[in-house]
Amino acid sequence: MSDWSQVTRPIPVPNEWTKPFWDSAKQKILSLQRCQSCKHFQHPPYATCVNCMSIDLKFEPVTGQGTIYAYTIMYHTGDKRFASAVPYASIIVELENAPGALLPGNLLESSYTEAKVGRRVEVVFQELNDDFTLPQFRLVL
Ligand SMILES: [Zn+2]
Repeated sequence: MSDWSQVTRPIPVPNEWTKPFWDSAKQKILSLQRCQSCKHFQHPPYATCVNCMSIDLKFEPVTGQGTIYAYTIMYHTGDKRFASAVPYASIIVELENAPGALLPGNLLESSYTEAKVGRRVEVVFQELNDDFTLPQFRLVL
């Protein structure tokens, strides 16, 4: 299993579109941008709805449960900060009740070999420092 305890992650730099996502994650709530006109969820956040071009966008909490949409196994340590975790699974999660939103993360608490398309996962929150908490995922067993 990957050892994430020795990994020093890059710290996010929020902008006006992503700040609500990070503020919510700090409270251990997963919130995604949602168009108030057509109800489409989208991630990452944009200035306009990618479905209908509305600018009436708000962040709404989602369950944090979903399935693995895609994954890749990282075997190389191009970024040395991640060396202790190699090999590890980077996954893209399709969240239930939030169609259209795909959230990237790492698969924690399982071997990277457990990453398979369609497996159910749930969000877990990893505190990076006093200001940032990173949404990650683990398998729902
Ligand atoms: Zn829309």
